[in-house]
Amino acid sequence: MTKIATTVWEECLSFIKDNIKPQAYKTWFEPIKPMKVSGEVLTVQVPSKFFYEWLEEHYIKLLRVALVRELGKDAKLVYEVKMENAYSSNSPQIVKIPSSNRAPLKSQNVSVPLELKKRELRNPFVIPGLQKVKIESQLNPNYNFQSFVEGDSNRLARSAGMAVANKPGGTSFNPLLIYGGVGLGKTHLAHAIGVQIKDKYADKTVLYISSEKFTQQYIDSVKGNTRNDFIHFYQMIDVLIIDDVQFLSGKKGTQDVFFHIFNHLHQNGKQVILTSDKAPVDMQDIEQRLLSRFKWGLSAELQTPDFETRISILQNKLFRDGVEMPEEIVEYVAKNIKSNVRELEGVLISLIAQASFNKKEFTMTLVKQIVDKFVKNTKREVSIDYIQKVVSKYFDMDVATLQSKTRKRHIVQARQLAMYFAKRMTKSSLASIGSQIGKRDHATVLHACKTVDNLTETDKQFKKYVEDLTNKLTF
Ligand code: ADP
Ligand code: MG
Repeated sequence: MTKIATTVWEECLSFIKDNIKPQAYKTWFEPIKPMKVSGEVLTVQVPSKFFYEWLEEHYIKLLRVALVRELGKDAKLVYEVKMENAYSSNSPQIVKIPSSNRAPLKSQNVSVPLELKKRELRNPFVIPGLQKVKIESQLNPNYNFQSFVEGDSNRLARSAGMAVANKPGGTSFNPLLIYGGVGLGKTHLAHAIGVQIKDKYADKTVLYISSEKFTQQYIDSVKGNTRNDFIHFYQMIDVLIIDDVQFLSGKKGTQDVFFHIFNHLHQNGKQVILTSDKAPVDMQDIEQRLLSRFKWGLSAELQTPDFETRISILQNKLFRDGVEMPEEIVEYVAKNIKSNVRELEGVLISLIAQASFNKKEFTMTLVKQIVDKFVKNTKREVSIDYIQKVVSKYFDMDVATLQSKTRKRHIVQARQLAMYFAKRMTKSSLASIGSQIGKRDHATVLHACKTVDNLTETDKQFKKYVEDLTNKLTF
């Protein structure tokens, strides 16, 4: 018996309808049009790429269950995306995207050492009370090697990542430290390694975590008297990926605990992957013994992509989004947006959005408008002088007062805020910031940054200062 698409889809819908809220059903399922069924494959049409992504992210499990009920266990879903206003076409253009069926990555079971089995081991990711130690990898399957475009700027890091992914713990790249400026792909590459390891070695326990979250978990474990559980938990991981380790700077307790975890993993042939916005030599306030560990393996830099790589990245993204764009426009974007990949993607996204919202075509005029606006917004480099002016004016004092040696509390605070913003918004070193803001040394600046961080957390009024100044300095 051959089934026709509408019947299959109607059956699916009636199942789906029973399992989600009416509003969600209306928004996400009513607009879907069944197109055809062949064998176990159902093709449906969705109104946009965004729509497709949303379905894949939020409803993939439900869709699968519904489909399997109708078409059997090998059921597959193919989306057709109607491109409302793709470049230079009068009739709507259609792209086909197979359901990734990737998400979610399987959860991982680990065997717990005997002496620990007697009692419950706390998984810092889980609300206490759950018995089984199940570890979600926390990986984003879309950040994979296939979507990470290769170029001169990332070749070393990418191939080192590949090598590690193929033989986790078995190369001399342990730890593998990926470093580079913001938006250059550190997080993406770190995930890609993890995703590939999960693909190749399903039984390895992979864990991705940001340094921030790691720190928070550690603090919680100290508060809850579960520090040992915290350590044991991390020592069970086969592949530990810690993002943005520069965040650990100045956090001695977290560094200590990480040092122990690191040693244990390393000695047992487990893989550690780290990312950082600086090379180890430039890291500040990281304990020497930890820094020396970082240098054991390989430090690979992600550099700003060159013109050719920027073109490839743009083309790759267009291809994945099913959008066509004239070459000269792609080149114009690549020529003018040089800073990093995130900004490159940002411009492309607003270009596509502008074109489709306003039913415009991708013209040179449109691209110039968007790129110019973008460049203007980011070019306005903030100088330390400017920061001092803005902060003084905000607190109603002159710059000389802000820089003076006085210990009056409100002046000290203003000075510390200026230092904090100088650190946050310029590339200047601590020493150079100190010398420009009242001839102080780097330790004073560092202290200022920490004080501001602390006060922002504990003092509402102070937090407001920081927010106001952030607004004044960025817009
Ligand atoms: P970082 O962690 O270094 O700040 P991310 O990994 O978050 O940077 O990357 C920023 C954005 O740029 C992400 O959307 C990422 O997918 C994309 N990106 C970075 N490098 C590449 C690349 N080589 N190929 C494709 N996309 C990339
Ligand atoms: Mg990142």
